[in-house]
Formats: sequence, C-alpha cells, structure tokens
Amino acid sequence: MKRFTDLFSRGIDFVRNNPQIIYTLFLVFAIPLAFFFSSDQFLRVARENQDRLEQSRVALLEDAFAAFIPGVVNEDDLLSKIKKLTKENETINSIDVIVAASSSDGYRLYASLEKGTSSDAYIPDQVAMNLLRFAKGDHDQSFAMAYSDDLGRHWRSARSLGIVGGSEGYVLVDVSMAQSDAVSRKNIQKAYVVLVLIILMIIVLLARQARIIDYSVLYRRLKEVDQMKDDFVSMAAHELRSPLTVIRGYVEMLGEGEGLKDAGKVHLHNIDQAAVRLNGLIGDILDVAKLQEGRMSFNPDSIDPDPIVSSVVEGYQQPAAAKGLTLTLMSEAHSLIFVDQDRFRQIVTNLVGNAVKYTGVGSVRVSTKKENGRYVLRISDTGFGISAEHQKHLFEKFYRVKSPETSRIEGTGLGLWITLAMVDAMDGNISVESIEGKGSDFIVSFKAEE
Ligand code: ADP
Repeated sequence: MKRFTDLFSRGIDFVRNNPQIIYTLFLVFAIPLAFFFSSDQFLRVARENQDRLEQSRVALLEDAFAAFIPGVVNEDDLLSKIKKLTKENETINSIDVIVAASSSDGYRLYASLEKGTSSDAYIPDQVAMNLLRFAKGDHDQSFAMAYSDDLGRHWRSARSLGIVGGSEGYVLVDVSMAQSDAVSRKNIQKAYVVLVLIILMIIVLLARQARIIDYSVLYRRLKEVDQMKDDFVSMAAHELRSPLTVIRGYVEMLGEGEGLKDAGKVHLHNIDQAAVRLNGLIGDILDVAKLQEGRMSFNPDSIDPDPIVSSVVEGYQQPAAAKGLTLTLMSEAHSLIFVDQDRFRQIVTNLVGNAVKYTGVGSVRVSTKKENGRYVLRISDTGFGISAEHQKHLFEKFYRVKSPETSRIEGTGLGLWITLAMVDAMDGNISVESIEGKGSDFIVSFKAEE
C-alpha cells in the first residue's frame, strides 16, 4: 500500500514538474476518442438516411402499383408491368402481388417477379404476416419493416392495392440492403484507417513531446549546475576576501615601518595596488552574485545625493590629476531622492571611475540638475568614446570594448552590469550618449522628491 502511495505521489510530482504531459495525454486519448465518436455518429446518420431512402423508394414503387392497378387486365399484364418497373433495380429481391383467397382466410399468388403468374396458395412468413395485418387496416399507405437473414439486411414492405382480379389485393416487396450495407462497411473501414493514421501521428508527436520532457529535465539540471556555480563563485569570493585583508594589513604595517629602502617601498606599493584591484574584482563578483540571487540589500531613504556625488568626485581628483585630466563638478540639482545611499555611491563611483579610466586626455565633467521632476546626474568625458554597435551591448555582463586604446586598461566588464541592475532596482534610469573618439556621457536619473 505504501509503495502504491509513494508511486502515486511520485507520479503527481512528475506531472507537476512536467505539465506538458497533460497535453500529451490529452492528444493521445481525447483526439482519437473525439474522432471515433464523430465518425461513428456520422456513419449512423448516413445509415439511417440510407434506410429511409430505401423505405421511401419501396413505398413509391408500391404507390405506383396501386395507381395503375385499375387499368390492369390480367395476371400477365400485371407481371409485364412489374418487370418493367423493376428492370433497372437490382436491389429488389421480389415483388409478389397476392389476393385474398375467397374460400379461406389465406392468400393466393396473383403475379410474382420470381414465380411469374400463378394461382398457388401464398403462405406469408412472419414478417409478411405482420405487414399484411397493417396493410389490411389501412389501404392508403405502405408498411415496411427491416429484417436480416443469411444474405444480409432486407426491407420488406406491404401495401393494399384495392380490388385485383375480383378480390382484395396486396403487393409485397422485398429489397436487399446488402449493397448499401457494403458501402457503409467500406466507409467504416476507411474511417478506421484514418483513425489509425491519426493515432500514428499522435505517437510521433508523443515521441517529440518525450524529447521536450528530456529537455525540461536537462534544463532543470542546467539550472541546478548554474546555481552550484554561482554558489561556488560567491563562496570562493568570500573566502578570498579574508586572506586579502590580511595581506593589505601587513602591507600597511610594512609601509609604516622605517626599515624599507626606496625600491622596497615601490614593490610594496605595487603589492598594495594589486591587492586593491583584487579586492575590487572580488567585490564585483560578490555584487553580481547578490544581484542575481536577489540578496543585495537596498534600504532606500530620502537623501540629498549631491554631497555623495561631491565626495566621490573628490576621491577621484588625485587619479585624474595623475593622468593630467581635469575633473570638475557642477551641482545644481538641490533636491532629494529616495534611494539607498550606499548603492547610489557605488553607482556614481563606477561611472566617474570609468570616465577617468577611459579618458586619455582632456576632462571629466560631472553635473547634477533637476529636470522635469527628476534628479539628473550627467558624467561627461572627452575619452575614447563608444561606437553605436558597442553601445548596444555595453550593459551586458562581462562586455568590454576591445580597441587599441582600451586593450591595456584592466577591467572585468561587470561594472556597468552592476550599475544598471542597481539603478533598475531603485526605479531609476540610465543611458549613454557617446561618439567614438570624442567622448561619452553617462546619464542617470531618479524621481526627485517634492
Ligand atoms: P570594465 O570597466 O571593468 O571593463 P564596465 O562594465 O564598467 O567594465 O564597462 C564596460 C566597458 O564599457 C568597458 O570595458 C569600456 O570599454 C566601456 N566603457 C565604460 N565606460 C566608458 C567610458 N566612460 N568611456 C569609454 N568607454 C567606456
């Protein structure tokens, strides 16, 4: 019992994880069933119509008999009329005109398609007997009944003819349904062939569906592996941070000491720079992991952004001056925005840092202003610029513009991806305007508070 419930709940899980299976089952069962029922219905209606047609044909034939009976001279005359009427009708098995025997309750054969003219006693079978009973009661219409024997289905019908040769006469017609039944049998066979073809098509579809199931399993595995990779990267980045902090601590201690010669100081500075770069890289990797997994914390508040922009610009004065660049700031915004101030600082740092990094000569201008109810931060540089083609991919993860000017500049291509993700998370906007060889403008905006 437990095994059965286990199996059942595993089946439910499988269907839940692969909802397309329901679609597959629907295809496999519902379509052939629907097709089967509609064909069955269609064939039944066709058969009923065929029967009705046969019935009215026989009734018409009998009505014709009744109409020309008054003009009949004798049995031979009637027989020749019967033959004429049935000449092209191969489904008619027999036409018997019988008259009531004057001596008894029985009947006598008057003219018969099979037996010619005769005055033998006619002994009706059970079907004919029933029909004659009706025909006796109602002289104006024919009565028909279907029956089967070894040769297949038949329609037997009887009609009163009024007075024939001095007595009450009746016509009994027997029509074979073998031909029309053969046609419907053929139709049924054809319908089954189509049904089998449809089932085959569905099996092919099913095979494809099975492949989709494979893909979905594969996709889930890939996602798991991707998750494992992210977990590993973020764990490794975390673990790298501690030894790096130790290295930087000792570098600082050594730098403060007296015993180092000039060459040693240069080496120490180089070690420190490398450690700073490594620290930045680890920071970027951790930020990407946090943003991707939605673990990055955002604590928005109403803040005045200009002091933050000003302190970031201040921080870059020295690196800019070292490259011979002028770095200026013009703050005209004077408004509050609702953002996380640490993340905002990170955004400004990334963009001002890039402007200084990717500008060879000239200047970097940072400006803030209020425009159409928004706080707008613009970072303009006279740097290498970015072609329209590269601009399309600029905010993608790991995307870096490869050019002779940028080839010696170190970077990961993660900064702008992180910047965009943070701006988006705080309902801001970021865009770039740039001309290759002339410079770039990065524009960030947030809704300004009243
Ligand atoms: P990184 O600077 O680490 O390469 P980013 O994501 O910050 O990564 O930038 C992606 C790319 O965009 C850079 O490699 C650079 O080619 C280009 N880029 C970014 N800012 C500028 C800029 N101000 N001027 C010219 N190119 C830029």
